[in-house]
Amino acid sequence: MISNKMKVLVANSSTIRAMFEEGKRLANLYGAENVYDFSLGNPNVVPPDAVKEAIVDIVNEENPNVLHGYMNNSGYEDVRDTVATYLNNKYALNLGTANIVMTCGAAGGLNIILKTLLNPDDEIIVFAPFFGEYSNYVNNFDGKLVIVPPDTTTFEPNMEALKAALTSRTKAVIINSPNNPTGVIYSDSALKQLAAILEEAQKTFNTSIYLISDEPYREIAYDHATVPYPVHYYKNTFIGYSYSKSLSLPGERIGYIVVPSEVDDFNDIMGALNVANRILGFVNAPSLFQKVIGKCIESEVDVSIYARNRDLLYNHLTSIGFDCIKPKGAFYLFPKALTADDRAFCEVAKQFNLLLVPGSSFGCPGYVRLAYCISYEQIERSLPAFSKLATHYNSN
Ligand code: PLP
Repeated sequence: MISNKMKVLVANSSTIRAMFEEGKRLANLYGAENVYDFSLGNPNVVPPDAVKEAIVDIVNEENPNVLHGYMNNSGYEDVRDTVATYLNNKYALNLGTANIVMTCGAAGGLNIILKTLLNPDDEIIVFAPFFGEYSNYVNNFDGKLVIVPPDTTTFEPNMEALKAALTSRTKAVIINSPNNPTGVIYSDSALKQLAAILEEAQKTFNTSIYLISDEPYREIAYDHATVPYPVHYYKNTFIGYSYSKSLSLPGERIGYIVVPSEVDDFNDIMGALNVANRILGFVNAPSLFQKVIGKCIESEVDVSIYARNRDLLYNHLTSIGFDCIKPKGAFYLFPKALTADDRAFCEVAKQFNLLLVPGSSFGCPGYVRLAYCISYEQIERSLPAFSKLATHYNSN
């Protein structure tokens, strides 16, 4: 018999499975090219050639016992050193090997951070709309997820609601910019306000409150937008980075955590992250892909492909009456549904072969998420379906 905790989680994940099954059913009926699946955040832009070249070179050059062997649970020291030096040059930081832990993507990173920090019933604050997996990750360590309601005019953190949510049990606040699902990049002024509020709360409660910046989309930014580096704003910051989107490598499970030396209880935290990586069963981030990162640290995917997709979809949707903030990053649009019930709206969209994700899955009912990391041609083909969906609502 499976655990009571897992029974609930399995039941909750049935929505995603149902969406996947529906996509397959529609593709069988109408042909894959006539089904417009905007439900998955799986990058369609190919990894840079440098990644393939690095894999071949590493496999040919390295001693196989070293390359495929166990290592320090925080990762290869030479790779952590390369990551630290790269970040120092890019963001004017003062990091070394000891500040970096290589992880199994952002998901692995977040889980070892939460394992490191949480006692049962400790509170983790998130801002709606948020990546739904946060609630599972917090639940893994018996923490309590506290959801700050959205500011739907900007989709930046709602500062007044944050102040009301902070308590003596607040262990950390998670932010995600560029954001999944809104595509918003948190501004310099938002980060300043956020930092001031957290400083104040630390004094009031005499606690350490950590800011966890979940950054798989840091490199996916458009129109020359800059993505502020949270370490410059608030001392107690963890950065959770991933190459899943920035190098289109989600299946390879590779990323890292940055913990600056100034963070409260730094030595204990680094020791705990190292042990958490081991005992959660990650043991260490994949060795071959750590080495790939060491060689490809300067590589990038072609973000202009996503920018072109964004423009095509955003321009069409807004021209037919959808209300939507123009995303500055990530590869999602988050328009308001054309009726208050976002789940019902997604069901109706399926009648036009459009697969969308309800905003309720991100703690933000009334909206829908569209992942535009699919081909430009497929988005072009989908536009008449969106027009028919809008007409359906306008004429009813
Ligand atoms: N955080 C956010 C906001 C995401 O959108 C995702 C994946 O889509 C993740 C974390 C997990 O990414 P990874 O593949 O690096 O574990």
